[in-house]
Amino acid sequence: MQFHNTLAFAQLMDATDTLGKYREEFHFPKMDGEEVIYFTGNSLGLQPKRAKKYIDEVMTDWKDLAVEGHFHAEKPWWDYHERLALPLAKVVGARTEEISVMNTLTVNLHLLMVSFYRPTKKRFKILCEEKAFPSDQYMLRSQVRFHGLDPDEAIVEVKKREGEHFWRTQDVIESIHAAGTELALVLIGGVNYYNGQVFDMERITKAGHAAGALVGWDLAHAAGNIELKLHDWGVDFAAWCSYKYMNSGPGNASGVFIHTRHLDKKDIPRFEGWWGSKKETRFLMKPEFEPMANADAWQISNIPVLSVAPYLASLELFDQVGMAALIEKRNKIVAFLEFILHEIHSEIESTFEIITPSDRGCQLSVFLHGQGKSLFDYLMRNGVITDWREPNVIRLAPAPFYCSFEDMYRFGQILKEGILANGR
Ligand SMILES: *Cc1c(COP(=O)(O)O)cnc(C)c1O
Repeated sequence: MQFHNTLAFAQLMDATDTLGKYREEFHFPKMDGEEVIYFTGNSLGLQPKRAKKYIDEVMTDWKDLAVEGHFHAEKPWWDYHERLALPLAKVVGARTEEISVMNTLTVNLHLLMVSFYRPTKKRFKILCEEKAFPSDQYMLRSQVRFHGLDPDEAIVEVKKREGEHFWRTQDVIESIHAAGTELALVLIGGVNYYNGQVFDMERITKAGHAAGALVGWDLAHAAGNIELKLHDWGVDFAAWCSYKYMNSGPGNASGVFIHTRHLDKKDIPRFEGWWGSKKETRFLMKPEFEPMANADAWQISNIPVLSVAPYLASLELFDQVGMAALIEKRNKIVAFLEFILHEIHSEIESTFEIITPSDRGCQLSVFLHGQGKSLFDYLMRNGVITDWREPNVIRLAPAPFYCSFEDMYRFGQILKEGILANGR
């Protein structure tokens, strides 16, 4: 498609965008009475307007029914989370029974490590990407120490090549081969939070399995952003937070995926609680734990219904639109943003550089050679909500659910003014 860096062109794109109407489904923060340009859907997605209704429903049921709400609310609380499994399964390419919603992301990764990281003297290594999201690094190192091992020996980090901003699949696979029979687990962020790179999860999962390891993915930046086929790729487990592209609200519950092949294993080590025990017999309060036949076996406590309610609201929107349509718009809007960045780059001979590789979702990370923090501050003061990552990177993530092509055009104009005002 031939793009043009004009307001008229952007508005034409919006007029023909079949997802354009979904912008109305979200609350936009305002600055000086105008909706901001929101580039941080990769950090905290906007609030779906319908989320409040879902929370209010629970509040009303609690007020009117009190404890009876567990079984007699219109959406009973005791199995409230089951409503999320089907729409979520579609988002991540799973079978419904492979999905559960509980806790928060890092907590779930720890719980999944209990089941899927069982180091032996010979096979104890974990392979991850260098400079993984800090919480993942802390999680991995503390898990390794928990088993009495040395993180510096057990954790293998795949590095980027000198002078490159992205990881090569070939290097990941070679590292897997090199770790060989010592490799217990591969656990990587499916979409890197810093450079926006999408890893080749299918190939890496295959390579990990061929080496005799298990393979899990942290999908914090992937769920609701890219196409996932967790079941078909044979991924062992995955987890994601719901407040980024999934728009479920700050600090909200995390989704987990556990492949069917692990669901009926009687002897799988797992931290257990009553909500993982069979629904049918749960309230007989028997001493034996009888696991649910699905990923809910990993549930420990009863569900934080108030926090899961806005997640359900958001998933309803995902179900209406579908990932295929979202991805189609994502590709267009990100390509348009990239085009605008290139136009401005050549128009005013600026020195910023897009460091996101072509395997990408909806984030473009831009390295600001020269301008730095003052340009970032200028953008924020002028209604562009983006974020700053040391040493010199801003991340732009136009979520296709609610960002418009006009946003991209307006951003370009503000960026240009900002660079001219702040020096190159
Ligand atoms: C956002 C993010 C987290 C956040 O973890 P919480 O437990 O939800 O606070 C963890 N890992 C990655 C890769 C992330 O992008």
